[in-house]
Amino acid sequence: MATTDSAAPAPDAGPLESALAQFHAAAERLGLEAGLREVLSHCKRELVVNFPVRMDDGSLRVFTGYRVQHNVARGPGKGGIRYHPKVDLDEVRALAMWMTWKAAVVDLPYGGAKGGVAVDPKALSPRELENLTRRYATELSVIIGPNEDIPAPDMGTTPQVMAWIMDTLSMHRGHTVLGVVTGKPTSVGGSRGRVEATGLGILHMVEQAVALRGLQKDGLTVAVQGFGNVGSVAAWHLHRAGYRVVAVSDSGGGIYNPRGLDPDALWHHKQAEGTFRHCPFGDAITNQELLALPVGILVPAAVEGQITAANADQVKARIIVEGANGPTTPAADAILKAKGVLVVPDILANSGGIIVSYFEWVQDLQYYFWDENEIRERQRRIMVRAFREVAALAEAEGVTLREAAMLLAVKRVAEATVTRGIYP
Ligand code: NAD
Repeated sequence: MATTDSAAPAPDAGPLESALAQFHAAAERLGLEAGLREVLSHCKRELVVNFPVRMDDGSLRVFTGYRVQHNVARGPGKGGIRYHPKVDLDEVRALAMWMTWKAAVVDLPYGGAKGGVAVDPKALSPRELENLTRRYATELSVIIGPNEDIPAPDMGTTPQVMAWIMDTLSMHRGHTVLGVVTGKPTSVGGSRGRVEATGLGILHMVEQAVALRGLQKDGLTVAVQGFGNVGSVAAWHLHRAGYRVVAVSDSGGGIYNPRGLDPDALWHHKQAEGTFRHCPFGDAITNQELLALPVGILVPAAVEGQITAANADQVKARIIVEGANGPTTPAADAILKAKGVLVVPDILANSGGIIVSYFEWVQDLQYYFWDENEIRERQRRIMVRAFREVAALAEAEGVTLREAAMLLAVKRVAEATVTRGIYP
């Protein structure tokens, strides 16, 4: 898969090319030797499974699933599972690589992994979804486990899906294995604060970015692309903290109201209607229009590759806080840098999820559960510390926050890899 070619990727390359370009830029600046670069630009382990699922009408359908571990030098693999029709091996590799850097930048004892199944979960009945999940979990059981690789939710998967994975692995092992997966419901070893963790973390990163820029938060406007787990919770916390959320969207488009929107009302509307089309609280806009709105802060919280060479010039926000993984292509990054837009990169901005997943895993292994205040406060401390480390490095090196975050993360992973040595 990987290449050590450090030439800039074609404009708006796919997620793997983007991830590799970001890695090679950091490796170049750190002066990593060629062999180590080769190691870190490859994924250590890749599992592809084609597996049958019995559908409600009695027919059999074969689905393709993946689990990729990019690097496990600092600890077990960690990363979500995505159910989406467009999931493919290169996307999962890129997401696994970003998880390695994410765990390292916030200094958690994890490596990076990711999984996915090419499926539209909304097109399955609850029973089909459970059958698919249990069979996929069984296929993965050869490489996941609390000491090996710990999945979590990502796009298209839910706490219930995580509960089925935990139950399936537990049936195989003959005893309950809480720590095999995080993001579970609290009734089966989930952590308080996990569902909100990524969206809440976006608020912490917005606050840090606003302070870094010396802005007053009163009246600062925000547009949020994607209104799922990350985007809806981020919008809710930002609204509560005094920011004016003026636009949100989902895959079908969005709505805009310069006077402000109430995320609670939006959430109820979305629950009832399933879409923002014909939403009475503002004017309909497309996702492209949302990205170009005259707002202070933009939070892309949907999918990768949204801010590209084709539209980065139209971005008017002064601050971008990346809720999604890989929403900005390297070509777009260069344009935003030239425009002076402050981008809080995905591996830092959306790390709230992996941080509270880490807390969940620790609680599961100890069979001792913490209260929500403790969890929120510990999450905030880790994220603020990481932001300050990254911002200080960016200042010292004269680089962007993304470049600094990558330097910090790649350096930590490289150091662990070198310190462990090459076996045998
Ligand atoms: P989700 O499935 O809950 O929500 C995704 C949202 O994005 C939905 O509202 C969907 O309609 C919308 N969407 C999909 N395609 C779109 C498009 N092309 N344009 C606009 N909107 C679109 O997923 P999530 O868990 O909120 O994840 C969103 C992003 O955040 C993903 O990139 C994911 O990898 C990343 N992330 C999630 C977590 C987490 O804890 N859930 C943690 C870190 C990063």
